[in-house]
Amino acid sequence: MPLATGTVAERVAALRERVDEVTVAAGRERGSVAILAVTKAQPREAVLGALAGGLHDVGENYVQEARAKYAGLPPCTRHFIGHVQSNKAKAIVGLFDVVQSVDRLDAGLALAKAARDAGRRLRVLIQVNVSPVERFGTTPAEAPRLAARLRDEGLDVDGVMAIGPLEGDIETAFRSAQATFRAVGGTTLSLGMSADWERAIRRGSTMVRLGTALFGPRPLKERNAA
Ligand SMILES: *Cc1c(COP(=O)(O)O)cnc(C)c1O
Repeated sequence: MPLATGTVAERVAALRERVDEVTVAAGRERGSVAILAVTKAQPREAVLGALAGGLHDVGENYVQEARAKYAGLPPCTRHFIGHVQSNKAKAIVGLFDVVQSVDRLDAGLALAKAARDAGRRLRVLIQVNVSPVERFGTTPAEAPRLAARLRDEGLDVDGVMAIGPLEGDIETAFRSAQATFRAVGGTTLSLGMSADWERAIRRGSTMVRLGTALFGPRPLKERNAA
């Protein structure tokens, strides 16, 4: 992974260009892969910098952290990418536009209820587990059933999110994510992080989630807790 140098706006511009190059090289349409700026363990300035640099999508893993950073943001789409605790569903719906990490029925039902109570539609992705070292995510086999059930509950299930293994058989994991996305349907395959986004784009990702590549290393505290 290249060291993140320059201002956030410069890194955004450089990554936007590289993402587009890899997208075109993969035979896909320029601009068809979005960059989600993952700002966990980074200050509010990182969120503002990403938006000022021209990105539209920002993501956080923790409700508590997002609350402080998201007050009065310019227009953007806020993605929750952390583990969904059912008792936090109301807070998540209050703070985020999209929940990428719906990995089981009770979390989805809690979000559906919170969205109904708030009188809004909620876009979600099904988090699929394609890696032996990843704790969360439903199985590829279960994902279409979970998606159908949650659509019945009124959620806008718009695709799949997966976290690749950092080493080992990344290709098999990404193929599985791609196949699960086809089975679930929707418009978004959220796949690829700072270390593996190029490969993810070649496997059909429509959204790469970049933290370190945009903002540099996270403070140690958070890296240990993640
Ligand atoms: C932290 C995180 C990312 C970003 O990771 P980097 O390797 O820093 O790009 C992406 N997705 C999820 C779910 C994360 O928790």
